[in-house]
This record gives sequence, structure tokens and C-alpha cells, in this order.
Amino acid sequence: MPHSDLTIIQPVELLEVLKSYPFLAPYQLTFCAELEVGMPRYRSLFAVCDTISQSALCTKTCQEAVEEAVQRAVAQNRAIIFRCHAGLLNFAVPLRGGNIPFTCLIGGGMRDKDIALDQMVALALADNGDAVALREELEALPAGSEDEVAEVAGRVQELLPSLLGKNIHSLILEKTMRRLASITGVSSGIDAAGSADEVLGLLSETFGILFDIGRIAVLAPEGSNSFAMKGLWGMDPDLGTIPKAKALTILPRTKETNVVTLDEECRSLFPDTGANQATCVRFASNGELLGIMILFDANLPRRDKLLIQLITERASAKLLHLREEAKHTADNAQAAKLMSMFTTLSRAASKEELNDSILTMAADLVDASCGSLMFIDENGENLKIEAALGMNMQLAKSMAVQVGSGIAGKVAAGGHPLLVNDIEKDKRVGIPNRPRFKTKSFVSIPIKLREETIGVLNLSDKKNQGIFTEADLNLLITFADHASIMIERSLSIERADFLEQLSITDPLTGLYNRRFLKRRMEEELARSIRQNLSLTVMMIDLDNFKIYNDLCGHLTGDRALKKMARILSDAARQMDVVTRYGGEEFCIILPGTSKKESIFVAERMRREIEGEEFPHEENLPLGRLTASVGVASYPEDGATEAVLLKAADVALYRAKSEGRNRVVIANPGTEEELSSRLKSVTGTP
Ligand code: GH3
Ligand code: MG
Ligand code: MG
Repeated sequence: MPHSDLTIIQPVELLEVLKSYPFLAPYQLTFCAELEVGMPRYRSLFAVCDTISQSALCTKTCQEAVEEAVQRAVAQNRAIIFRCHAGLLNFAVPLRGGNIPFTCLIGGGMRDKDIALDQMVALALADNGDAVALREELEALPAGSEDEVAEVAGRVQELLPSLLGKNIHSLILEKTMRRLASITGVSSGIDAAGSADEVLGLLSETFGILFDIGRIAVLAPEGSNSFAMKGLWGMDPDLGTIPKAKALTILPRTKETNVVTLDEECRSLFPDTGANQATCVRFASNGELLGIMILFDANLPRRDKLLIQLITERASAKLLHLREEAKHTADNAQAAKLMSMFTTLSRAASKEELNDSILTMAADLVDASCGSLMFIDENGENLKIEAALGMNMQLAKSMAVQVGSGIAGKVAAGGHPLLVNDIEKDKRVGIPNRPRFKTKSFVSIPIKLREETIGVLNLSDKKNQGIFTEADLNLLITFADHASIMIERSLSIERADFLEQLSITDPLTGLYNRRFLKRRMEEELARSIRQNLSLTVMMIDLDNFKIYNDLCGHLTGDRALKKMARILSDAARQMDVVTRYGGEEFCIILPGTSKKESIFVAERMRREIEGEEFPHEENLPLGRLTASVGVASYPEDGATEAVLLKAADVALYRAKSEGRNRVVIANPGTEEELSSRLKSVTGTP
């Protein structure tokens, strides 16, 4: 900024000083400057007579009268009193010296004290017009006499030389210093502000009051492509949005200043404001545009613009700091939220719960109200919905999605996420929006386990009817990365469960195996003892099965064993534990069944085996495929797994020796029998 700019006295500044003199307060004041140096034509810098320039009284512009008066005043170098076309009293005082770009001061808008107002109105309204309104306007004007105006003009002429000499500079300097003090005072407020709104609010209030500006707005970046226009001072808070490109055209073209004045462009940039002029203040730091403040109809001398520039740099730094702080806080909050989500996920009790949680959390992260979580089936051909949100799960499950077709199918096949703003317009999708979706924007992301896509997470219907953003997509990808670790864990737990399952069941019959029998026997016995309930075990051995195998072959023998397993399972109650004890021997635990009741149960099972038909059984010694059953019960026959099984085995042996195809109940029998049984179990003599 050239130094002379700051020392030249601006018309606004001189006017302000003059208006601070009480004897000049009632007058409209303006300056006239030569149109071109040496040309005897003048241009007034402000409306000469602001009050009634638009009224019926001013049928002609006062320019002619003013120009004539200025020429006279300048030529004669003295104050002139003159009347405009409307008959109002004015004065013209020539200005000389000082570093000022204008030649004459005009003061006016004074009506004659003595003149009859009605007469004036009648004269002015020769045509039709609003007489009442005009009378009111005239009445509102200051009234005086020619002598009084002449005296005022004389005082101004006396005052001006000293003002223009050195006084005006010190007055303006003093005012500038006061403003500077206000502005530096406000900077501590800016430093302490907690939000961008607070900073901008404080600044607009300061500018509004300090520079007497009526309306101030701000353009704040919103998203990546638009600016929100918010009224800060004397304006509506919400003024809509404008595209970023348009906002950028307002920016100062020169690098040295953040403050520019728009004249002609103002009307096209802010048509709704009806403003003729706007001073735009750019807030930027580190090359980042943080906002543009617009001071409407502000006519500021460069000195004031410099003051604004000063505070703007400070405010910009603060705005950037606040923005980074907010981003940091948001990032931290998001990280904390994700962490707590993963903790919850890691506690999921089942695969179903895990899938449901993953979907609900993902939806929560991006404000989606509908969604589904799908996994590719073992054949890799179809996607199966494992969790659904905002839609019927049964219905969702029934809809098979082929890998490679449809939106989710394509994401599954390609392994790339899909973010769609408008499902109907997006070329990658290009399908009419299905009526069950409320909005046309959705996201679909692949769930991957080590580069391999295993499923797809779909989300739609953003809650505020909005569209999903790039930020939403990135957040979901981060979330899905972690969720897939949980999914992998659940899969390996599932596999381990399956292996565990394998190890406790017998592959031929699907019944529990001997290992499992031992464990369950211990648990069931402990419970029976605790609750004082009976428990019975049955050992079942097929009769002459070696012969059956020899007769029909091993495969038919296996089939017979499977059938036997089914007969026993069907005959047993829900709580009974049916196991394959070995080869063609079965063992059943019957919790809560007493020794007495067991006779009937065992007999029923034996009869069912006997009654069932098996191929070639007629060739067996007994003419049918049958089984012998040995039964022992807690508490009568023992209180440990080993003793009870031994007792049942002894009973079974007796059933065999007594002719097979029969049930033998263990007999506590004699002391002798008991001790021999114990000996054989414990191995003690
Ligand atoms: P008993 O009436 O005395 O029990 O006569 P048995 O022939 O059944 O004699 P034992 O119990 O000693 O023989 C068991 C036979 O069961 C031996 C074997 O041929 C047959 N067996 C054992 N496990 C299987 C199996 O998994 N499949 C088939 N097909 N046969 C089996
Ligand atoms: Mg056997
Ligand atoms: Mg046998």
C-alpha cells in the first residue's frame, strides 16, 4: 500500500469529523470534486440531500444548482448560500490546501422557518401526489433562516483551514489509534474463543460497531464443494449456500491484502442483498481458505482496511487452530468409538450376535437406517444374508444373491467398495430405485479375510435423507477391516467347535463316543448325588453279531449298527445320553431313572430291537437280530462311573450266559459278589 494512501484524507473521514461539531449536526453534508483537474464541472461525492431526493419535491436533480453554487464559491473563494429547486437552503464553502482530493463542501437540506408548508406542498404537487406524506417529510427537515445558514457557513469557512492544516490529521490519527486499541483489545477475545462461530461473531460485532456497518455475512466452507452463507450482523443467520468456484471469485487478487472491495461485481455475486458495494475479508492460513467475511455497503478508507487486515491475520490463525483442534477431537472421538465397538464385538457370544452387532454398528457409524451383511457360501456362488437391518430377516434370507450379479454380487466378485450418490443415475449401477429404499444413495463394501472377499456389507437410507460421503466410505472400510478379524475369529471358533464335536461323536452312527460317555457319566452322577436322584446305566451288546457279519458282510453289518443307533435314540428320552461304547456295544445313561423303572425301559428297548427287521437275520441262531442288556443303577449298585459300568457289564455277561436276547438287572447280591466286583475294578485283592 503506497504511503500517500494513508496520509490522504478521505472524504468519509473529514465528513465524520465535521459532523461531530454540534452546529453542523442538522445539515446534510457532502463534498464536490472537479470532474477533471481544471474542468469547471463538479461531481458531488454523496447525495446532496439524502432525505428528500426521492420525493415529489425534487422534480429536478439538484446537480445543476449545486454545480452553479460550487463554481461561484470556488471562483470567489468564499461561502455561498443557495437554494435548490425544491427551495431548500444550502451553503457551499470552498476548500483549499491540505492534502485533499476535493474542492468544495456543501451543506444543506434546511427548510425556511417562515415559509408556509402547505404552500410548498401545493406547489410541489401540481400533479397528483401524496400530500400527507410529503408534508410529513418536510416537517421532519431541520428548519432555519437564511441568516442562520449564512452564519453556519461562515463558521465552517473559519474552521476548515485549521482542520485541514494539522488538526484533521491528529483527529484522524487519534480515531485510528482508538480503533487500533479496540481491535487489539478484541484479539485477546479471539485468542480465547472456543469455536469458529465465536471468532466470527466477535469480529463482525467489532467491525459493525467500529466502522458503522449495517450488515455483515460470512461464507464458510461446507463440505468440499460449497460455501454456506451465514448472516452475522444485521442479517438472517441462514442465507443458503453458493458453489466453491463462485466463492473463490471473491478472493482478493493481490497477495498482499486479504481485504478487497467489490463494486460492480457485488450485485451479481449477492443479488438478494441489494447491496451496491461490499468489502470482502479473506480468512486464510497455510494456504487454506477458512472463510470470507462480507461487509455490505461499507465504504472504508484504506486506513480502516489496514486495521481489518491486521486482525484478520490473527483471526485466520485462530480459525485454523480451531479447525485442526476440532478435527483432532473428532478423530479421537471416532477412534474411541471404534475401540469400544471392537470390544463389544469381541464379546459376542455367537456368530449370529457378532453378525448382528457388526451390521448395527456399521449402520450407526454412518447414520444408515437399512442394511445387510452377506457372506459368500461354500461353493462361492451365492451370497447369503446373515444379518439384516430395516428389513424382514426371513424375507432377506430367502433372497439369494448371485456372486457377480446385482450390486452386492458385483462388489463380492470385484472386491471393490461401491459408493453411489444416486442409484438411478450412477452408470455403474443404473437401475431404477427399488421402492423399499427411501433414498437413492448407498454404500456396499467387501468384507475381506487376507485379500479374499468373504462377504459384503450393504448400507442404505441415510437418516437425514442425505447421501453417503467419501468420509463415510473410508470409515466403513476401517471398521470392516477390524470387523473381519472378529469374523475370522468366530469362524475359527466355529471350526474348533466342529472338531470338538467330531471328537466326541462316533463317525459311523453319529452317537456320542466312549470318551464323551465317561465325561457325561461323571457329570450326571455328581448331579444325581447332589440332588439325591437315581441314575441308571444300560449296557447293550448285540447277540451273535460276529455271525451276522459273516453271513451278510461287513457293510450290511455297519448298516445294522446304524439302524440300531436310531432305534436306541428314538426309544431314549431327551435327557438320556445314548453312546456307542465300542464295536457292537452301546451304553445309555438314564438320569433320574430308578432301578425299578429301568426294568421296563430296558425291556422296551430289547423288544424294539427284536421287533425290527434286518436283512438275513433269519439265518442267525435265534432267528432274529437281538441284543442282551445289562442294567445297573445309582445308588443301589454303586456311586462312581467305573463301579456302575462294571456292574452293568457283569449283568450283561449274565444275560449272555443265560441265553441272550434278555435284560438282566444288576443284583447287589451277597457281600462276596460285591467285594469281587470291587476287586476287579480297583485291582486290590
Ligand atoms: P455275543 O452274542 O457273545 O456278543 O457274540 P458276538 O458275535 O457279538 O461276539 P462279540 O461281541 O465278541 O463280537 C463282536 C463282533 O462284532 C466282532 C465284529 O465282527 C463285530 N463288529 C464289531 N464292530 C463292528 C463294526 O464296526 N462293524 C461291523 N460290521 N461289525 C463289527
Ligand atoms: Mg461285543
Ligand atoms: Mg456281541
